[in-house]
Amino acid sequence: MKSQDVRSKFLSFFKEKKHSIVPSAPMVLKDDPTLMFVNSGMAPFKEYFLGNGQPKNSRISDSQKCLRVSGKHNDLEEVGYDTYHHTLFEMLGNWSFGDYFKKEAIAWAWELLTEVYGIDKEILYVTVFEGSDDADSLPMDTEAYDFWKQYIAEDRILKGNKKDNFWEMGEQGPCGPCSEIHVDIRSAEEKAKVSGKDLVNQDHPQVVEIWNLVFMQYNRKANGSLENLPDKHIDTGMGFERLCMVLQGVQSNYDTDVFTPLIREIETIAKKKYGEQEEADVAIRVIADHVRAVAFSIADGQLPSNTGAGYVIRRILRRAVRYGFTFLDKKEAFIYRLVDILSKKMGKAFPELKAQKQLIENVIKEEEQSFLRTLDQGLVLLNRIVEETKNDIVSGEKAFELYDTYGFPIDLTALILSEKGLKLDEKGFDDELQKQKNRSRAASEMSTDDWTILFDDKEEEFVGYDTLEAHVKLTRYRKI
Ligand code: ATP
Ligand code: MG
Ligand code: MG
Ligand code: MG
Repeated sequence: MKSQDVRSKFLSFFKEKKHSIVPSAPMVLKDDPTLMFVNSGMAPFKEYFLGNGQPKNSRISDSQKCLRVSGKHNDLEEVGYDTYHHTLFEMLGNWSFGDYFKKEAIAWAWELLTEVYGIDKEILYVTVFEGSDDADSLPMDTEAYDFWKQYIAEDRILKGNKKDNFWEMGEQGPCGPCSEIHVDIRSAEEKAKVSGKDLVNQDHPQVVEIWNLVFMQYNRKANGSLENLPDKHIDTGMGFERLCMVLQGVQSNYDTDVFTPLIREIETIAKKKYGEQEEADVAIRVIADHVRAVAFSIADGQLPSNTGAGYVIRRILRRAVRYGFTFLDKKEAFIYRLVDILSKKMGKAFPELKAQKQLIENVIKEEEQSFLRTLDQGLVLLNRIVEETKNDIVSGEKAFELYDTYGFPIDLTALILSEKGLKLDEKGFDDELQKQKNRSRAASEMSTDDWTILFDDKEEEFVGYDTLEAHVKLTRYRKI
């Protein structure tokens, strides 16, 4: 089944179940002080769950562009190394705002997966919340368990803890237990060795979570206690690329038709074959993934820049350039050349990509060229540093200068040095970085595009823009 059909089958299934089908909301958020990018299907509907306003239809379904590169959900460092986490991905979702609840959500998920998509139920596992004996003292979700056992053998219903099976929007607000659906697509031989049950939620590349059904039934109050919600809601999210992997009978998201056209193009440009050498493969996956994230962000109006969300995008693109530079030996701009195939492939479902194609290409090309110049200058300086090094250790201070003045990535410095048989004084580098962080902390206010970032020293520590995680967690925003 082609990816296009996977998407449209999902949407038409829920349309038949009386859901309104809506387009993906823009991924870039301009007016949410807690989030830079949409990172889950529910984010655009947050206000409804909080009780602020009512959607026209109490049942909605869509495929939402999500980006998980900052804050609570940051998968960036996994991307390229595993085969099922992306920066940008589509989350297929269905919602009930005070309408249907567990019974229908479970019945329909099962019907869609096993009847419409025809997935063999012998490869599926589901999880339910086991309850908690902490201050919340929550009961096990026996309701969900009883619905599931109408469809699936009980030894395939696994109980999960609060971390995996209880979802909260934030410190306060709607929350509730969830049930996740996992697939085991290993060979029969592998299955005979270890039960899939033991591999669920263990980061196994062929035993992966595909769908999360959240049952919002509680409200967490400001004092931390829980109360029942007057209206119960359903929030589900299924990873589109992972579903395509299952339905196309392949073992990696990158072997689905969502990614193969991009990978073929990269192979041609880089004159390297995917699947022959691990480092090149990682680079190819990184580039195929990151070009999507950057292209979609630009299409949504977020250009790379030096601050805020723009800096996150710049860093993603630079990560791709760096992998191409280091492992595919690409010393000139080439990532922009992938936009054409991307917009041909995805432009139908996401017309903004087609409409903005020229802009996206120009911006990416320009960014690539300027970063490659930086890398070139950095390399000249690095070579000089190497020549001047008397023993086999390059000082942290010098590496920091390279990083700070030329934006030369420290992992690239370490890699080049190790190729030359030299070591990097990592501790010295960290010390210099720490000094810089202290200087940054002294700055009380810094402006981004249209946000002012306020730092509150008493409560939190600003650790600098080089850590995406910290950027979101540790900053406060004010619209200017
Ligand atoms: P995982 O445990 O695999 O990191 P998750 O529990 O963080 O996934 P959810 O927040 O439950 O994911 O999101 C719903 C669905 O979105 C997941 O079941 C999965 O199919 C998909 N998904 C989550 N993160 C990614 C990602 N980085 N890339 C691709 N798909 C993802
Ligand atoms: Mg995750
Ligand atoms: Mg998970
Ligand atoms: Mg999950």
